[in-house]
Amino acid sequence: MTDTNQQLFDRARAVIPGGVNSPVRAFRAVGGTPRFIARAQGPYMWDAAGQRYIDYIGSWGPMILGHGHPAVVEAVQRAVAEGFSFGAPTEREIELAEAILALMPSMEMVRLVSSGTEAAMSALRLARGATGRRHIVKFEGCYHGHADALLVKAGSGLATFGNPTSAGVPAEVVQHTLVLEYNNVAQLEEAFALHGHDIACVMIEAIAGNMNFVRATPEFARRCRELCTQHGALLVFDEVMTGFRVGLHGAQGVLGITPDLTVLGKVIGGGMPLAAFGGPRAIMEQLAPLGPVYQAGTLSGNPVATACGLATLKEIARPGFYETLSAKTRALAEGLRHAAADAGVPFSADCEGGMFGFFLLPQLPQNYGTVMTSDGARFNALFHGLLDRGVYIAPALYEAGFVSAAHAADDIGATIEAAREVFRTL
Ligand SMILES: *Cc1c(COP(=O)(O)O)cnc(C)c1O
Repeated sequence: MTDTNQQLFDRARAVIPGGVNSPVRAFRAVGGTPRFIARAQGPYMWDAAGQRYIDYIGSWGPMILGHGHPAVVEAVQRAVAEGFSFGAPTEREIELAEAILALMPSMEMVRLVSSGTEAAMSALRLARGATGRRHIVKFEGCYHGHADALLVKAGSGLATFGNPTSAGVPAEVVQHTLVLEYNNVAQLEEAFALHGHDIACVMIEAIAGNMNFVRATPEFARRCRELCTQHGALLVFDEVMTGFRVGLHGAQGVLGITPDLTVLGKVIGGGMPLAAFGGPRAIMEQLAPLGPVYQAGTLSGNPVATACGLATLKEIARPGFYETLSAKTRALAEGLRHAAADAGVPFSADCEGGMFGFFLLPQLPQNYGTVMTSDGARFNALFHGLLDRGVYIAPALYEAGFVSAAHAADDIGATIEAAREVFRTL
């Protein structure tokens, strides 16, 4: 049954490094053969062998309405007929900018780009340009795309800056990136005491979705805000994953914290290549062509992508959307927790809006180090057990999961039953 996938994987590996265009898709962490997806509809995807899966990846977040939502498909088809790309401004870019600003009160202006990586990288340059400072603070386990300065792990102490996590990134390129432990208030305070005068920004996933699912504690988020304000640094919320995913106003709405800059992606493109960054007018007007901070893009504000994003935002802004979505996600998290408890498997889970995380740990972790103490072999058995039963979760224990509006109670129920079977075998 998976022979077709294996054949495609062999063919792919001959022409694409590792057979994939983004590493996690290769199933390296969990082993086995990646499924090559042929089509998707609603909460389901079908692989090249015709096997159906309930999809809890949702293209890693964008597909909040499920696959092939009729209003979105129609908007995209209409846009395609009008033209793919003009390299000139369009009214639809204004409409999308207005729609984003209406939902994100911390943003007065926004610039559209094509990927989260590009948006985070540009926000960083803007923060440095606007403050005239060099240093940036990030947290271990948070992912902000693959710009050189952000591919970094903690150095040996607070006085030393980070070390590159990728070959091809010279140490000099990350010498201004300070990597701190997530949710560690004392370390953050110490870093500001030492370097505060030269910190351009603190960049954070306020609900982290790239070390599975870990919330910033209210105290930690508040101290990030206070210390940035006190030292003249900008607070940058990377909401590429959480924006319009954990709630209509993102993680900043959930936590009640106003960042200076916000980075968006994933849901705002509805599955098309689209991302954005924005903030107060005075900071955003530092960007070219008005200001000295250069930033540009051939396909930025692409007319098809903006049509897809606009149609998606229109659906999620309907009253009650997140209440219904949250209830489904909670039902899934609760059901999994009970199934694990019945089988005596250590388990904890958390969720917000349409995003969830679970751990084969008795308690929810607060930082990357603890996340990585999860039992990898057990997770891999769970992953393959679910996949064999037609349930597709992220193929790595450090990834979050996503529920869409298209998931029905039956899909959630079938998922919990499949998990119940697998938990008994762990
Ligand atoms: C996915 C993600 C990115 C990178 O976005 P791409 O579109 O993959 O470049 C950046 N930050 C966060 C928080 C993300 O989840």
